[in-house]
Amino acid sequence: MARIAFIGLGNMGLPMAANLAKDGHQVFGCDVSEAALEAASKLGIAPAKAIEEAVASAEVVITMLPAGAHVISVWRTIADHAAKGALLIDCSTIDVDSARKAHTMAEAASFLSLDAPVSGGTGGASAGTLTFMAGGTVEAFARAKPLLEVMGAKIVHCGEAGAGQAAKICNNMILGISMLGVCEAFALGERLGLSHEALFEVASTSSGQCWSLTSYCPVPGPVPNSPANRDYAPGFAAQLMLKDLKLAQDAALSTGASTPMGAQAQQIYSLFEKQGHGGRDFSAIIELLRDHQV
Ligand code: NAD
Repeated sequence: MARIAFIGLGNMGLPMAANLAKDGHQVFGCDVSEAALEAASKLGIAPAKAIEEAVASAEVVITMLPAGAHVISVWRTIADHAAKGALLIDCSTIDVDSARKAHTMAEAASFLSLDAPVSGGTGGASAGTLTFMAGGTVEAFARAKPLLEVMGAKIVHCGEAGAGQAAKICNNMILGISMLGVCEAFALGERLGLSHEALFEVASTSSGQCWSLTSYCPVPGPVPNSPANRDYAPGFAAQLMLKDLKLAQDAALSTGASTPMGAQAQQIYSLFEKQGHGGRDFSAIIELLRDHQV
């Protein structure tokens, strides 16, 4: 069993750390929020007030933080205070440039490191069924894999440093664009007098088939557990989709890639958030299309 420091005990980090503790690992948790530390202590996680304290004897350090700036700042402290030989894993969704910078900091301090963002949301974090997409050396991946398997159901080594984040933002750009496509089709179908059920039955078994349609259908009815059936309570909040679309656009800008659909999707989700809908499920974007606002 390993000694693990887990930094960032929010909506995702807390259940992930709890699954490691449940598996018998000794987990030291750290967060700037007192409430998070209190919740962690009830789940078998030893609360640490400071990062230095949490990482002092840890063999593995895992971070699950909001954005790149948080990761860089926290990894600076980790690199200065982690025990010799520790493996550093960042599971946050952040920009590829920050992920690569974090790897460079770790390497300079002689630590193995991995970027390992996740897909699967808070439900997957609680159930231990996340998908991990990892970037880093074969050695770092081999060491991390048994622990990632405690928190996830599918673990993919995508390549060198930053490749996990690259896979994550490319996947989520597909998701943002495909959801808009499905929403447009349902909004058009409504205008044409087509029932939701008929469109779903045809498209879900035809060339329009995709996850946004068959697992996350943006209208109530065809997929009974999709957020549309509970007034778009998330699920995956529109503000998180917007964050990931922005990361994709940052990456497109820095690499010179052409992503006109991703750019348009970012603009549409940005408008939705400005209107105060950032906390609703991202499939609620169908309302913006119905209202002729785009
Ligand atoms: P969250 O805001 O609930 O949790 C982040 C935690 O980090 C908070 O508890 C916060 O107090 C803590 N924190 C911030 N700065 C810190 C610091 N300097 N030291 C210690 N703790 C600090 O966010 P979340 O929903 O858990 O998401 C975490 C990451 O996972 C994000 O990058 C997000 O994009 C990604 N993600 C989220 C989901 C989801 O469905 N929520 C799904 C996939 C990926």
